[in-house]
Amino acid sequence: MPDPEAAVPRIGLTGGIASGKSTVAEMFAELGVPVIDTDVIARQVAAPGEPALAEIVEAFGPDLLQADGSLDRRALRARVFADPADRHRLEGILHPRIRARTLATAARAGGPYQVIVVPLLVESGFTRLVDEVVVVDCPEAEQRRRLLARDGGDAAQADRMMAAQLSREARLAAADTVIDNGGELSETRAQVHALHRRYLEIARDARAD
Ligand code: ADP
Repeated sequence: MPDPEAAVPRIGLTGGIASGKSTVAEMFAELGVPVIDTDVIARQVAAPGEPALAEIVEAFGPDLLQADGSLDRRALRARVFADPADRHRLEGILHPRIRARTLATAARAGGPYQVIVVPLLVESGFTRLVDEVVVVDCPEAEQRRRLLARDGGDAAQADRMMAAQLSREARLAAADTVIDNGGELSETRAQVHALHRRYLEIARDARAD
């Protein structure tokens, strides 16, 4: 009997902040490919009533809750940004739950193959759970420009956010496939379409085994 977990290839899509992950994910979605966004799942696992939220409050104090009882993400980000030990503690609470819920979502999502968007794919060890690591890449100067255009803020802040992430080189070193999103969107789309054809073939071969 085929292993249902292995039946549908899972493509892990990652990249630095504002490199174009959401843009590329949308292109796969337009082709009818199920796209699972772990940022959405991260918000779900820490929603009011979820055990992870109670654990976060226990670890970091009730100051991290907003008046309506939901998590004050901005305050939490500021807190863990300043202290690696706090960050590890938070990741210990969130990551196993994000992984479990992502796999459960993937098991229900169907499709010939699936794209799972994981901003911290390489850092989080999530690479073990996907069949292929796809990195969306663009030059850092362009990444900074897009980050500022999308989110505002100043250049120093953008640099800090980029510096807090894995380096471009380290991310590229972990890639099985790189999507070059440094140019026009039409060029990116052409790469996505070529990959789509390849993944459909891989999925067909996997089903035939
Ligand atoms: P991420 O999901 O990696 O943070 P986004 O997909 O949101 O990145 O892209 C960051 C910003 O750059 C968005 O405003 C998006 O519209 C823009 N963008 C993405 N790709 C391109 C491109 N090839 N050319 C110009 N702008 C782009």
